[in-house]
Amino acid sequence: MRTSDVIVIGGGLAGLMAAIAAAGQGKQVTLMTAGAGTLAIGGGTIDILGYLEDNTLVENPRAGLACLPADHPYSKVGSQAVEDAVQFFLNLCRQEGFAYTGSLDSNQWLPTAVGTLKPSCLVPLAMDTAPLKAAGHVVVVGFARLKDYFPELISAGLSKIPGYQKDYEQVVIDPGFVGGRDVTTLDITRWLDTPAGQQACYEQLGKFIRPGSVVVIPPVLGSRPDYDVRNKLEHALACKFVETVIMPTAITGLRLRAMLLNHARKLGVRIMEQAHAAWAVQDGTRVTAIVTSNVDRERAYHTQAVVLATGGFFGGGITADPDKVQEAVLQLPVAAPPDREGWGTLKLFSGAAQPFAKIGLRVDASLRPVDAQGRVLLNNVYIAGRNLAGYDYCLEKSGNGVALVTGYTAGLRC
Ligand SMILES: Cc1cc2nc3c(=O)[nH]c(=O)nc-3n(C[C@H](O)[C@H](O)[C@H](O)COP(=O)(O)OP(=O)(O)OC[C@H]3O[C@@H](n4cnc5c(N)ncnc54)[C@H](O)[C@@H]3O)c2cc1C
Repeated sequence: MRTSDVIVIGGGLAGLMAAIAAAGQGKQVTLMTAGAGTLAIGGGTIDILGYLEDNTLVENPRAGLACLPADHPYSKVGSQAVEDAVQFFLNLCRQEGFAYTGSLDSNQWLPTAVGTLKPSCLVPLAMDTAPLKAAGHVVVVGFARLKDYFPELISAGLSKIPGYQKDYEQVVIDPGFVGGRDVTTLDITRWLDTPAGQQACYEQLGKFIRPGSVVVIPPVLGSRPDYDVRNKLEHALACKFVETVIMPTAITGLRLRAMLLNHARKLGVRIMEQAHAAWAVQDGTRVTAIVTSNVDRERAYHTQAVVLATGGFFGGGITADPDKVQEAVLQLPVAAPPDREGWGTLKLFSGAAQPFAKIGLRVDASLRPVDAQGRVLLNNVYIAGRNLAGYDYCLEKSGNGVALVTGYTAGLRC
């Protein structure tokens, strides 16, 4: 069947949310995705807004939204859309048995692998920091040969932060892997998926646990989008776990992706993996079909509406060569400083937004693409996620938040 009500291009968080929102409205949805998207390597925490562009810390994301410039994606869709998307997401996670915690009222401060705290808004229960704040005795766990993860660094960093001066103890668990390569969090997660791994972890960790201990651990407590491994070990050891924010690969993103894919399939979304959307058939200002190109030949898929969630530069949705910056599927104009010298500021760590990070597609309040004068270019196309112009997610800590909110909104609008 090559006809859909909605074609979503892109299988990252923005595309998945768009597909779920549209299918929830009874639309027949096809999701085309060339690859897995950033969730497969990045974090599954939903950062909504941690800092403003002048580097002011945001304690309350709801209040922070009112301080954003008019061309920011959140300003485009409006604060009610942010509220609705957050509520929809929290309900969806609960329904799928993988609840998240948090609200727009306050950011949460998550411990990182380098012993700092990072703001985020909606986080899996396994990253809830309330137990850590209340703890007296904290066991910081590492794993033998785990790359870039040092319990001493975490303890030393956290203990310098007001409110986090605790009795820290470091423990290294040895999964007993043989062979020469570095161990990743994915290896340890898969080990802890097994009853043998859980038993070994229980035996090695048990000696260090006191009543009321909190255990700070990398995100390794199971690869599936549920809390089974965490619940089993917490019950057996009578402790609380808090998973940290780590360098890629973060299992938290893989869990979230698995949950959203399951949910989309339940709603009847047709998922075409390794499908590369190459170009579109247009009738005036409407797209009538998306053409995929793969190794064999091109195929046209007809549609009433399109959500373009191809992930900006990182996802492959926007490309730059020495002469031109362009959107790769629909050939939409990209808002970028004309002079390459103006793409970056030399003060890389000054806390100022980087112009290159704000490069993307301009949209109207319905997320339809517009030109520099604000004229709608395609009436039945909606842009979501990292493709959008006007925000520096690294500085703001708003990456998955913008993807969630604009993906959900785009899915409803079409
Ligand atoms: C390492 C890393 C860690 C991060 N950690 C966090 C975090 O902890 N919290 C947070 O809030 N944000 C985080 N972010 C930012 C956040 O992950 C992204 O901003 C957000 O997920 C982008 O989602 P997206 O759906 O717009 O794009 P992407 O996830 O990049 O998805 C784009 C999708 O489009 C597909 N695609 C592209 N072109 C085509 C085509 N022609 N045809 C078909 N499919 C196509 C790609 O294959 C991919 O599936 C992180 C980013 C990185 C890089």
